[in-house]
Amino acid sequence: MEMNPMKEKNQEIWKTFNSRLGSTVVKALEANGFKSLYVATAAEAVSAVLDLVPEGSSVGVPGTSTIRELGLPGELESRGCKISQHWDPSLALEDRPQRWEDEIASDIFLTSSNGVTMDGMLVNIDGTGNRVAGMAWARKKIIFVVGINKVSRDVESSLRRIRDVATPVNALRLNIDVPCTRVGHCVDCKSPQRVCRAVLILERAPFGRDAHVIIVGEDLGY
Ligand code: SF4
Repeated sequence: MEMNPMKEKNQEIWKTFNSRLGSTVVKALEANGFKSLYVATAAEAVSAVLDLVPEGSSVGVPGTSTIRELGLPGELESRGCKISQHWDPSLALEDRPQRWEDEIASDIFLTSSNGVTMDGMLVNIDGTGNRVAGMAWARKKIIFVVGINKVSRDVESSLRRIRDVATPVNALRLNIDVPCTRVGHCVDCKSPQRVCRAVLILERAPFGRDAHVIIVGEDLGY
């Protein structure tokens, strides 16, 4: 079936817009000490990550839909990498803390970011804290892969987007009963199940390690 011409035209416009926005964000990230690049597609993002990960590396993958949407754990495993990830249904609950440690101690910490701002900061909210701990304190190379849907103007609007969109969608995925999943936006709940507990804003790349950010001109994760 032929594509609707309006749809085709809109796709081209989005492609142009995303690449311009992506370049703006990449320049800002570079100015803040992150090694950054823009790629137009998910397939290019996979290649860019594979270029940064030497064969046989250990790779820690925390809770991230984006990295799994891209199929990266399997790709890396097929190149001889050892993947540590606590999203493993066979992992006993009491073994999780050690797995969190293994993720952070890996050669590469491979994750997304809940948000990125136009002035080049990375914004995240976590429940357990292991993911934001790794973003700030993973021992060696840190790689962030971020879909264009996660770009916001500034820290405040980024936190808003994370609370109103990313968190409720993620809670729905995990089947966690918090009020935002019922009303479709954050109500700053007092629920015992509240998943928003730790906020990390990386204003600059952390000292002493390579921090790479790949901005992708497609929607990835949430
Ligand atoms: S604070 Fe509560 S309502 Fe708001 S996003 Fe977090 S879990 Fe949902």
